[in-house]
Amino acid sequence: MIQKISPLPSVDALLRTPETSVLLTRFGRPAVTAAFRDILSARRAAGTFGGQPADVIGQAADHLAVRFTRSQRPVFNMTGTVLHTNLGRSPMPPEAAEAAAEAMRNATTLEYDLETGQRGERDTHISRLLCDLTGAEAATVVNNNAAAVMLVLNTLAPGKEVPVSRGELIEIGGAFRVPDIMSRSGAILKEVGTTNRTHARDYKDAIGPATGALMRVHQANYAIVGFTAMVPAATLSGIAHDAGIPLIDDLGSGSLVDLERWGLPHEPTPRESLEAGADVVTFSGDKLLGGPQAGLIVGRGNVIAALNRNPLKRALRLDKGRLAALEVVLRLYLDPDRLAERVPALRLLTRPESDIRTTAERIRGALAARWPDRTVTVEPCRSQIGSGALPVDLLVSSAVTIEGKGLENITKFLRSLPRPVIGRVARGQIILDCRCLESGDEEAFIAQLSGTGDTG
Ligand SMILES: *Cc1c(COP(=O)(O)O)cnc(C)c1O
Repeated sequence: MIQKISPLPSVDALLRTPETSVLLTRFGRPAVTAAFRDILSARRAAGTFGGQPADVIGQAADHLAVRFTRSQRPVFNMTGTVLHTNLGRSPMPPEAAEAAAEAMRNATTLEYDLETGQRGERDTHISRLLCDLTGAEAATVVNNNAAAVMLVLNTLAPGKEVPVSRGELIEIGGAFRVPDIMSRSGAILKEVGTTNRTHARDYKDAIGPATGALMRVHQANYAIVGFTAMVPAATLSGIAHDAGIPLIDDLGSGSLVDLERWGLPHEPTPRESLEAGADVVTFSGDKLLGGPQAGLIVGRGNVIAALNRNPLKRALRLDKGRLAALEVVLRLYLDPDRLAERVPALRLLTRPESDIRTTAERIRGALAARWPDRTVTVEPCRSQIGSGALPVDLLVSSAVTIEGKGLENITKFLRSLPRPVIGRVARGQIILDCRCLESGDEEAFIAQLSGTGDTG
């Protein structure tokens, strides 16, 4: 049978059709032209010579819609890990996000002193707050905690040995490995002790003329249990100071308040670490602190001054948007009584299980209606803090679980929603932990489920 072949339309002809004008307004001529070219050459390559202009234009509209969809988008984090590194860690307080947006839209006092009309220092916006909150003499901030550790080692111990316990040679997800960061910083790692036990004498024996500092790394994302021994910070600072060298303490997450006030397990605070004699302490802005990505550094005045003189500081500095957000978040910590309401990360971590269960029960119906032939139930589950904080402590929570055949199609559908839903799959179930779905988001969650699409 011979098919009647109409030739492929030309790019020029397509650009002149009235249907294309909508695309031109929305996406601009270069992108629309490129889309037509791509589609026509793909059709030619496939030996498809026929094609109505409307057909090609429709296909171009689909291509362009995908290309112009923002790649980084908000998702519903139902993984059960509150500070999920792959999902952007801590959500920020709205007033902090607004301060960041405002700073980014405008000229600001970033490095300008209004009193004198002279050049100012960008750290002044946060250093006083950080000192008040931790009892430190001085403070500074860089891009993230990995950068903080790098800067501290590069300043205090370039070409010098830094003894670290073998029990603390950790890897944090996303390629932060203590030995690698150390070698890039120019410091020389000197391993001491064993994986499960390190004693004061191990550090003492390791110290010599080539030693630049002692370093302690918080066992953030794992726990060593059983026959163990670690040297307390107070002992370690004594050993360091006897030898005339500083003690560096990498707290990882750290927390500016004692989490035990909300019944959460204890996480070391920078204040405790400084009181134990650490000379410099580093921790993250977007872990338990609940702010933007940042590496906070507090400690002795002369150490912070040395960090600020290091040219690496300039390369690792924070931008005005994140500085603005961090300032707002730190100020919230001046009123610890209202922190659990105002800092979303802490609000989610302290959310009562009964409240989470209510959310799970409310959204269960919408999920069951969407997949009537699957078993959709509310079940107790455990959430994790995430980002390496308190790895062994799981929080009691509630989840909606979906059981039955073809779970992969369902998780794929959930990921394809306008605001993708990210859960986890375990033991033949989809588990949607409701801890991070706050009541204000329930409606949006339910509304997008009732749209149409491939439901698997
Ligand atoms: C998370 C962590 C880091 C890395 O911090 P980032 O802010 O992700 O750069 C370093 N050390 C410890 C102990 C950590 O827990």
